[in-house]
Amino acid sequence: MNTATDLYVVLGNPIAHSQSPFIHARFAEQTGQSLRYERRLVPLDGLQRALDGLLAEGARGANVTVPFKQEAWRLCESRGPVAERAGAVNTLLFGADRSIHGENTDGAGLLRDLGANLGVALEGCRILLLGAGGAARGVLQPLLAAAPQALWIANRTAARAADLARDFADFGPVSGCGFDALPSTRFDLVINATSASLAGRLPPLDPALVGAATLCYDMAYGKGPTPFVAWARQVGAGRAVDGLGMLVEQAAESFHLWRGVRPRTGPVLEALRRIVSA
Ligand code: NDP
Repeated sequence: MNTATDLYVVLGNPIAHSQSPFIHARFAEQTGQSLRYERRLVPLDGLQRALDGLLAEGARGANVTVPFKQEAWRLCESRGPVAERAGAVNTLLFGADRSIHGENTDGAGLLRDLGANLGVALEGCRILLLGAGGAARGVLQPLLAAAPQALWIANRTAARAADLARDFADFGPVSGCGFDALPSTRFDLVINATSASLAGRLPPLDPALVGAATLCYDMAYGKGPTPFVAWARQVGAGRAVDGLGMLVEQAAESFHLWRGVRPRTGPVLEALRRIVSA
């Protein structure tokens, strides 16, 4: 039942910068849903306590962000198949019996941004995924389901990339290695799923792997071009975009899971872009 008091939150640490309350408030206005969506700062050792408190408050669901996605996965009683395999959840649905169901909408959000917003067809593409953390885990299965010709994972800690590739090998042609062991041909799509941009840094990528036909996609976003987007433009990438579209699209997937209605994302992305750039 959708009541005026339906409460949703985003849990993270830090959390003050989160744009999720803005996005979900716009989705709710647009679809006529009555809900509150709040940010909650969770102490690093306090996820279980925060969830207990939310269940006691009668909250209906939550988003989970850095650094809690993997811990939240462990605290779910049930999970959707993509989340199950990813080992990380970003969306929680609370049952009337106080059960917690986990989903991961990061991959669906990325694919929707690439496909519907940016017009990218992944079938037959050569994809390079940078990073092997929670975000990379969440998007691997949906990316492989889109039937790329090959998907390489490169990570600073090479063993994590190799492990990740092994974990997802049954979904498609995936290989993992360090940045210095990548094949020396250009990629169609390079996705930066490292957190390097957040620290104003760049992953150590050979510019020769990027060309005029390459789309460089940074999952991070910020006021101006992220360091990776700026680097990609400088080395001649055909296109370079940040992850604001993914942020809005993954939120729309969460909203759909919670409320059963799919909001329109275009106007919300435009409004958010104006706010973030101001
Ligand atoms: P994690 O902390 O789980 O993983 C971080 C990854 O970045 C690791 O692979 C780590 O390598 C690598 N890394 C960190 N610093 C550097 C560096 N200086 N050079 C090279 N590699 C580096 O983070 P997440 O996976 O949760 O998030 C990654 C990024 O994705 C963040 O920027 C996050 O904001 C963004 N994101 C965006 C979303 C959106 O909707 N737009 C959704 C989800 C995430 P190592 O293993 O060697 O430590």
